[in-house]
Amino acid sequence: MSTALVTGGAGFLGSHLCEKLLSHNHRVICVDNFVTGQPRNIEHLMPRDDFHFLEHDVSMPFYVAEDVDYILHFASPASPIDYLELPIQTLKVGSLGTHNVCGIAKAKNARLLVASTSEVYGDPLIHPQPESYWGNVNPVGPRGVYDEAKRFAEAMVMAYHRVHDVETRIVRIFNTYGPRMRPKDGRVVPAFIQQALLGQPLTVFGDGSQTRSFCYVDDLVEGIYRLLLSDRVDPTNIGNPHEMTILQFAERIIELTDSESTIDYKPLPVDDPKTRQPDISNARKHLDWEPTIPLQEGLSKTIDYFRQVLVEQGKL
Ligand code: NAD
Ligand code: UDP
Repeated sequence: MSTALVTGGAGFLGSHLCEKLLSHNHRVICVDNFVTGQPRNIEHLMPRDDFHFLEHDVSMPFYVAEDVDYILHFASPASPIDYLELPIQTLKVGSLGTHNVCGIAKAKNARLLVASTSEVYGDPLIHPQPESYWGNVNPVGPRGVYDEAKRFAEAMVMAYHRVHDVETRIVRIFNTYGPRMRPKDGRVVPAFIQQALLGQPLTVFGDGSQTRSFCYVDDLVEGIYRLLLSDRVDPTNIGNPHEMTILQFAERIIELTDSESTIDYKPLPVDDPKTRQPDISNARKHLDWEPTIPLQEGLSKTIDYFRQVLVEQGKL
């Protein structure tokens, strides 16, 4: 039985990844400091003998006694609201945290997969975005703390690959949604769904003409698992190319929740990317992967999750 260490394992994506790894018979060591994660995301895994939890800030050095075969480094604030509130922690976990997991990967001879992001492309001047595009990032803007931390993480991982022969994988994740997103993380999917369920106006930033392409979490973790087991060292986009404007997305949520909510236009955040769509040719070719879950199906499951959360909170 192989062992996988997942940093950020109590977060939205990390908790789904832990489940995926367990379902493929890996032992899992989950490390998290709950800065943006939630204990409820992993409480169902805690009783299992093949799941171990370590509460720790991975920007501080740490030691794992047992053998480790795979490391999946997912620890980082990920929502714009979170990383604007936690700019220094975000820079530290992308830099010092990545350095720490590189050191563990080297010591344990483990394969290291690092969660990067479509944000490395910034406000892209090429559309859709292939991995060969170097991006258009403002290093000193408010989003720079996240974008540059992830760009640094990619550079660090490649240096450990080149200098120390560490087996490395880099996944560039595009907007992903699903159950276990934190209700108040401010990202557009939890924000719009809860507003619609509560009959409140949906807060569309700017005129809503900016685009995003949304991937359901089950598709994403399948792509990441295939990348982990593949021999592909180059960065790989994983996401759903189905692109829409944020205004269209708001209208879709209102329709699917059968809500009476209206739209409330708010100022566009600084450096908010105008377009975003993954070019997934490499994932198709090298991983034989593409998303299979239609938006309506993924959103229905996510809406059910947030309805349940609001019932638990006594708001519905
Ligand atoms: P999330 O906030 O739900 O999860 C991040 C987890 O990392 C949380 O549990 C948090 O407590 C933990 N964490 C943060 N800093 C830590 C530290 N110093 N030490 C230990 N744990 C720490 O966010 P998510 O959406 O699940 O994102 C997970 C990863 O995927 C992040 O690295 C993010 O950059 C990347 N990503 C996500 C998306 C997306 O659409 N969800 C898109 C691109 C990249
Ligand atoms: N957005 C919005 N209303 C909200 C939250 C976000 O219109 O309440 C917009 C945001 O400006 C961006 C898009 O939705 O254009 C996606 O935002 P999110 O925070 O989910 O992630 P991003 O893709 O910006 O990292």
